[in-house]
Amino acid sequence: MMRQQDLQRLHDAVRDVPDFPQPGIVFKDITPILADPALFRFALDALGEIARDLRPGKIVGIDARGFIFGAALADRLACGFIPMRKKGKLPYHTRSCVYELEYGEAELEVHLDAIGAGDRILLVDDLLATGGTAGAALQLIGQAGAELAGALFLIELAFLDGRRNLHPHHTCSLLTF
Ligand code: AMP
Repeated sequence: MMRQQDLQRLHDAVRDVPDFPQPGIVFKDITPILADPALFRFALDALGEIARDLRPGKIVGIDARGFIFGAALADRLACGFIPMRKKGKLPYHTRSCVYELEYGEAELEVHLDAIGAGDRILLVDDLLATGGTAGAALQLIGQAGAELAGALFLIELAFLDGRRNLHPHHTCSLLTF
């Protein structure tokens, strides 16, 4: 009962910013959630419950808002945290994956020694849109010989059907728009 109300408050706190970063995109701004300690804690509690059931050994967070949730969850679950970053940000040797954006392409990188064969990985990001980013992350995890325990998002834009890129892996989001 309480939980449904909290989920609704979380949902209502997401701010729509039209035409950012480019015309036609409605940006889902999560900073009002981060700024409210009760809401942020509720989001972490709810994501943490799902994450724990997936029994990950390591959490991969995606640059940049995936770091906020991924790192906090890694602390709660006593998992290692691995940053997956946009091209050129990681200092050591990397493996990388180029993927399609709505306009043009982007590249995601992870340190070569960060993910090991047989690791059980939980992928975390703030938002699943087209799933291009998550699909690239899944490729990098696969190239390292690791297993995806699941993918977890605060928000899913269901009309873009991004979860098709994660099929058949367990994909979960707290809020659906
Ligand atoms: P995609 O690869 O299309 O699934 O896009 C996912 C990535 O882009 C995530 O890291 C999101 O943070 C960001 N993103 C895409 N669309 C939006 C949106 N409408 N609002 C906020 N972030 C977005």
